[in-house]
Amino acid sequence: MYAQVVLPLSRYKSFTYQVPAEFSSTVRAGSFVTIPFRQRSATGVVVSLHERTSYQGTVKPIQAVKEEPAGLPQDLWDTLEWISRYYFTPLGMVLKSALPLGFSDRDSIRKLTLVTITEAGRRALTKWSGHAPAQKAVLEHLAAQSGTVSVSSLSALTAHPPSICQRLVERGWVQLELREQTADPLLQLPPGPVKEVILTEEQEQILKALRQARAAGQFAPILLRGVTGSGKTEIYLKAAQEVLAQGGSVLVLVPEIALTPQVARRFRTTFGSRVALWHSHLSPRERAWTWQELLKGRFSVVVGARSALFAPLPRLQLLIVDEEQEDSYKQEDPGPRYHARDAALVRGRNAGAVVLLTSATPSVESYYNGLLERFTGLELTERFGGAVYPRVRLVDLKAERQSTQNYQLILSDPLVEAIAKRLKREEQVILLQNRRGFAPVIGCNDCGYTVFCPHCAVLFTYHKSSKLLKCHYCGTTAPGLEACPQCGSPHVYLEGVGTEKVEEQLRQIFPTAGLRRMDADTTRRRGAHHRILQEFAERKVDILLGTQMIAKGLDFENVTLVGVVNGDTALFLPDFRAGERTFQLVYQVCGRAGRRQEKPGEAIIQTDHPDDIAIKAAARLDAHRFYNQVLAERGELLYPPFSRLIRLLVQGKDQEKAWSRARELRSRLTPLQKGMTLLGPASAPYERLRGLWRVHLLLKSSRETDPGGQQLHRLAASRIPHTWLERSHQGVRLKIDVDPVSLL
Ligand code: ADP
Ligand code: ZN
Ligand code: ZN
Repeated sequence: MYAQVVLPLSRYKSFTYQVPAEFSSTVRAGSFVTIPFRQRSATGVVVSLHERTSYQGTVKPIQAVKEEPAGLPQDLWDTLEWISRYYFTPLGMVLKSALPLGFSDRDSIRKLTLVTITEAGRRALTKWSGHAPAQKAVLEHLAAQSGTVSVSSLSALTAHPPSICQRLVERGWVQLELREQTADPLLQLPPGPVKEVILTEEQEQILKALRQARAAGQFAPILLRGVTGSGKTEIYLKAAQEVLAQGGSVLVLVPEIALTPQVARRFRTTFGSRVALWHSHLSPRERAWTWQELLKGRFSVVVGARSALFAPLPRLQLLIVDEEQEDSYKQEDPGPRYHARDAALVRGRNAGAVVLLTSATPSVESYYNGLLERFTGLELTERFGGAVYPRVRLVDLKAERQSTQNYQLILSDPLVEAIAKRLKREEQVILLQNRRGFAPVIGCNDCGYTVFCPHCAVLFTYHKSSKLLKCHYCGTTAPGLEACPQCGSPHVYLEGVGTEKVEEQLRQIFPTAGLRRMDADTTRRRGAHHRILQEFAERKVDILLGTQMIAKGLDFENVTLVGVVNGDTALFLPDFRAGERTFQLVYQVCGRAGRRQEKPGEAIIQTDHPDDIAIKAAARLDAHRFYNQVLAERGELLYPPFSRLIRLLVQGKDQEKAWSRARELRSRLTPLQKGMTLLGPASAPYERLRGLWRVHLLLKSSRETDPGGQQLHRLAASRIPHTWLERSHQGVRLKIDVDPVSLL
């Protein structure tokens, strides 16, 4: 017998090995095997078994078969293969990203290195002389922790925690300790109080529909539309209980678990130790531990972000994708560039399970699938407990600036008055400003120079708290500006508004209010989100100001005002989804107010474009109107859901080489088939990032002539040389993105 084996390489081909008789009963597709590869041993995964081989070279034997405790469930294996095909990613690379430790040795994962600061270390810190900033940062972090932390958890502070720790050990400032890995990551999430819940009539109807769909034992995609607070999470819990009672398992995907701890906590409360958590803040070891326990069948429910899709849960009966419209479900780099919602539908089909997509503001694609009845549409029309949706008010910033003659206006009078009223009543306020830093534009009044990141075609953002200029794409920083780098003039101006600037203004206007800023800068450390939200929940904070991370899934009963400082931040991005994203964000954030009947809420949206359809529809909470309008536009321009897209992004240090590759790509892809169009090559909207020039082409195929997109896939697969996707040639790299969510 022969096995085709893939390695974690960016290579499309698999390699042929002979299966010795001793392994012939244990090896199967999905088995991990040790194989000789290029003069050494390597770990690979068997993708298929054959009686014969047409391979002409020498065929070497498999050395060992590493048996996972139970092996991957078939539906998961099939999904991984689908991802590989659909997203043009070698199966080895798909496996590498799906498996918690990639292909690394599975026996070495059970030990955890812990690090503790010593007394000498604490003393050293008090008289630090200014060298070795990484060592200092690590020591400071350890000094601030009362207990012991794992070495790998220091990766937010330094690129190489083990080597830094080793140096600190040599100086006697820390101690290392090797410990068995037994930590259950859920221990970091204490259960909340249990709540008696009797579903409402409307909720019951939906639960019943889910039950019926499950009883059929077949794949059933369902789109549940319900505003925030309509009681969707309570339905998930009941439905999951029913599945568990029948011996099945449930996978719950949430956009970003660190931002939405409440859904996870409610599952934890209901299911205790049968729930596993899966999110990006887990260390690789925690992930590996969870994975192994899953294979042993310890958990019946997994709640997690995007990659939880790969959880090896057996007997999957229900998949829930909460807030299915969220972009964080799309993996960008490295490949596979998969969309977890779409892959969840595929996994559900493979498992014969019910897939429940939910949202108050579904993606236009899912909404359309609902219209076409590809998805069963269900709807919750009321908020639980008679809570009413907030009154939404639009404030026209242009008019406000005119009437106050204040052209730097950030917070309008109506918004300031509304905040003051809440503070007086000891109610809480959420404010959204979807841009971090202090000011996104820095320029010179004398020569007109504006300051860009040296590696990207992106403006530097000024961060006042750290006095640094930062590039939000590549992370490059530079010292804040005293004078113009071009002409030396001291007349440097800052323009635009980030969260730091809003924070500064709020502190001036409301000096005694408790205010917390939550954005990527204040939440770098593990647990920081959680602490800020906890303080807000305990009402130690009156005003929570933040980027879109505050808009998701939060449920605070004392919040009666939501303010959007500038509703337009995403409106004019050169992307066909800009309007959709603006609508979703504004609509969502409004849902954070007035979660209880006793305390009706209000939302105030400041905007320069009160007549824009996305803003207007969100303010009126008029979803149908918005979707109808957008669908009409998309149809006219042949954008999804009326077409499939493949984006081809060519990147290289040398601009001319990138362009000539892109032009060659174009000539290879033409002539197209009927119903297809090819746009570009054109400079990507961010034409240079991280030192690379970016040129893209967009391949479209109309839904009418190519409903499943197969023709488009076949064209791309046959005309683009595989080696172009596997590695760079002459410093130029090609990235292929199927169903891209961003065209920037
Ligand atoms: P969603 O997930 O749609 O935002 P939730 O499930 O969080 O809504 O419900 C909003 C609030 O109402 C939660 O505090 C939830 O516990 C409560 N709730 C929802 N349905 C019921 C019910 N049938 N009985 C009691 N409380 C409920
Ligand atoms: Zn200047
Ligand atoms: Zn940059």
